Amino acid sequence: MAEVSIEKLTKSYDGKTQVLSGLDLHIGQGELVFMLGPSGCGKSTLLRILAGLTSPDSGAISFDGRNISTLPPEKRNAAMVFQNYALWPHLDVFENVAFGLRMAHRPGPEIERLVMAALEQVRMDGFARSAVTRLSGGQQQRVALARALAVEPALLLLDEPLSNLDANLRDTMRREIRRICTERKLTALYVTHDCREALSMGDRVGVMHRGRLSQIGTPEEIYDHPADGFTARFLGDVNRVPEGGIRPERLKITDGPGKFRARLLERAFFGDSCEWLFEGPGEERILVRELGAPDRQLGREYALDYDPAFLIPVPEPGDEQ
Ligand code: ADP
Repeated sequence: MAEVSIEKLTKSYDGKTQVLSGLDLHIGQGELVFMLGPSGCGKSTLLRILAGLTSPDSGAISFDGRNISTLPPEKRNAAMVFQNYALWPHLDVFENVAFGLRMAHRPGPEIERLVMAALEQVRMDGFARSAVTRLSGGQQQRVALARALAVEPALLLLDEPLSNLDANLRDTMRREIRRICTERKLTALYVTHDCREALSMGDRVGVMHRGRLSQIGTPEEIYDHPADGFTARFLGDVNRVPEGGIRPERLKITDGPGKFRARLLERAFFGDSCEWLFEGPGEERILVRELGAPDRQLGREYALDYDPAFLIPVPEPGDEQ
């Protein structure tokens, strides 16, 4: 597994609109880094450039200190997992996973060993001779992942791999991908617009905005200490309070004096938790999230409190999605 360095990467498709405008990123050996950002911010472009499928306008990419910027895809050993699986419908599971190894003219016994090890790792070894067209979406995504693992990539690239799966399966696959990355000590870059996926799986998470990294850090760092309003808003809800911004779960409904008073307007019950919508002193809407569902009275005024250590930058109107 390689250590990956990306320096000052730029790309525009039409010569005018900069999709990437000087993006710097370092991925440590064996690290799973997430790149988060709204649709269209250039995440797939970044992955395609790393895989060698798209050329950047300028910038440098190195694997273990070696500049690979001008190498063709097959010489980079970066494997990609796509949202739509991209499997060959006329090949069975084994041959789909073996595809990259056959292209690289690896000897038969080695192909057999690498393919079966990869299928075992994704728990699909019992399906080696099945037609991929008969598999469920989740199983097809496992095969796509096995195909990427089989080539023992220097860098694993994942492009929204769970978006086509239903919610339960997504949770399972989230844990599976995390497990496999840890077991294989994979260096991996995973792009998504789903912050729950990024925060729950990533060693570090970067947020892309206007062609650059607006911030990168551990999930806790970027969630609790976002660098700017855009990052704060992208990662979760933010309330405007008199002193700044605060996340809904950091607000406490209290019997004491609190920081300010607000009138309770609405309640939404989610089983394990509940959300309260308040109207603040300046008629602004304030959202509070609590575990459980205490008895509270709609229309009544309550005092709200928070620890100022959790104040975060306030999003500007253009930062709202
Ligand atoms: P994301 O993966 O974050 O959704 P993309 O990298 O796919 O973003 O796209 C970034 C921007 O570049 C978008 O505005 C998109 O329309 C544009 N784009 C992507 N691929 C091409 C292409 N092959 N030709 C022209 N424009 C493209």
